[in-house]
Amino acid sequence: MSGEGKLKVVINKAACCGYGVCAEICPDIYKLDEHGMVYVEDEIVPEGMEALAREGADACPQSALKLVSA
Ligand code: SF4
Repeated sequence: MSGEGKLKVVINKAACCGYGVCAEICPDIYKLDEHGMVYVEDEIVPEGMEALAREGADACPQSALKLVSA
């Protein structure tokens, strides 16, 4: 049993400085807009991608990404 339910990405847009580290680590979830700022197409993390999503969020130098229970 994995114990972890669905995760949701919460973006603090004001904190994002467009480093793009998140998108480099996990491009399937974290996308960059034309200004290089992060966005997600679907805030719900697809099943099986939780670890990568977490890695991308943890790598953000601005701590702009949080994962919460959906
Ligand atoms: S790593 Fe953080 S600061 Fe950089 S684009 Fe992603 S959310 Fe924004």
